[in-house]
Amino acid sequence: MSRPYNFSAGPATMPEEVLAQAAAEMLDWHGSGMSVMEMSHRGKAFMSICAQAEADLRELLAVPEHFRILFMQGGGLAENAIVPMNLSRGGTVDFVVTGAWSQKSHQEAQKYCHAQLAASSADSGFTTLPDPASWRLSRGASYLHLCSNETIHGVEFHELPDLRALGSDAPLVIDFSSHVLSRPIDWQRVGLAFGGAQKNIGPAGLTLVIVREDLLGHALAICPSAFDYRTVADNGSMFNTPPTYAIYVAGLTFQWIQRQREGDARGVAAMEQRAIARSQLLYDAIDRSEVFYNPVDRAHRSRMNVPFFLREPGPDGAAYARFLAGAEARGLLQLKGHKSVGGLRASLYNAMPLAGVQALVDWMREFERTQA
Ligand code: PMP
Repeated sequence: MSRPYNFSAGPATMPEEVLAQAAAEMLDWHGSGMSVMEMSHRGKAFMSICAQAEADLRELLAVPEHFRILFMQGGGLAENAIVPMNLSRGGTVDFVVTGAWSQKSHQEAQKYCHAQLAASSADSGFTTLPDPASWRLSRGASYLHLCSNETIHGVEFHELPDLRALGSDAPLVIDFSSHVLSRPIDWQRVGLAFGGAQKNIGPAGLTLVIVREDLLGHALAICPSAFDYRTVADNGSMFNTPPTYAIYVAGLTFQWIQRQREGDARGVAAMEQRAIARSQLLYDAIDRSEVFYNPVDRAHRSRMNVPFFLREPGPDGAAYARFLAGAEARGLLQLKGHKSVGGLRASLYNAMPLAGVQALVDWMREFERTQA
C-alpha cells in the first residue's frame, strides 16, 4: 500500500527511497556490523559518511572553496543567538523582518548586539516583501539578516538582495531552513546561510551552517566554545559529538537529490523545476477557487509553504474541521495551519511528489462542490 501524502511544515515528509535505504542499513551499515547510530564519530566509518555528506552538499549547492560547511545542533532558533555571537562583534546588525521567523531572529539578537530594524512588512500582515530599495541600511553594520523563506507566512525571496548594489558592505545572513536545496544559491551575495535539516533534508537535530571563511574567528568572549564557528570549523564539526545519525540520513537525501532528473536539469536544478510545478498547481487551484484564498502578494509567494484559508470558515471554523477530516480520510496529512495564523497550510518540500499536490487539489475541488 502506498503511503499517505504528508504536508507537514517540519519535521516533514522524506523521500521514500531514503527511508527504505536507512531501514535496510539499520542493523549493519556496509558490513561494519554496526548501525550508524552505534559508531564512534571519530571512527573511520563515520568519518567517511560525514565527509561524503559534506562533499555532496558542497556539490549540490555549488558552495565555493572559501566557504566552510558546518554541521551543528540547536536548530534555527539556536542560530538566532549563535550568529550574532559570532558575527556581530557587539556592533550594529540590520534586520529585515518579513514574518514570524525573522521577527524571532531580530528579538533574540538584541541580547548580543544593536539589532536595528532595517525594514518590516508587519503592516501588511506579512503578506509581501519590502522593496530592498526602501531598506534603511546602517553604515558599518556587522551583517544584515533576513529569512529567505518564511515558513509560517509563506513569503519567499525569489532573488536574494545584492547588498553591495544597495551601498552596503555588510555580509548577508540568510535563514534558509525551509527552502534549502529547492533552488540554487548565489554565493556572491551571501556571507552565511543557516537552517535546520528537518524540513527539506532529513531528521531533526542537525543544523547546517555555510559560512564565508573570513567571517570565522570573531566570536564574542561569551560565546560557548561549542558554538564558536572557528572552533567548530577547525574541528571538522566534531568539537563535540555531532548528531551522527541525522548527518547520515541527510547524506542519503543529498545522494537522492543528486540522482534526480527533470529533462536536462539534475540535482538542485531538478528540485527547483519540481518546486515550481508543485506550487503552481496549488496556487492556480486556490486562485481559481471562490472558496479558498491565499493572501500573499503573487510576486513573493513561497514555493515551499502555502498558507491558505476558507472565505467562509463557518461557526468555530467548522468548515476547516470538515476539510481536514476529509483530507485525512483521503491520505492527505498535516494540513492544519500554524496556530499563530490559523487556516490551512500545505508544505511542498522536495520529497513531495506532484501526485500529492494533485490529490490535494482534487480534494479541494470536491470539497467546494459538496461541502463548502
Ligand atoms: N527558521 C525557520 C525559517 C523555520 O521554519 C524554523 C522552524 N519552523 C525555525 C527557524 C526554527 O527552527 P528550530 O525549531 O529548528 O530551531
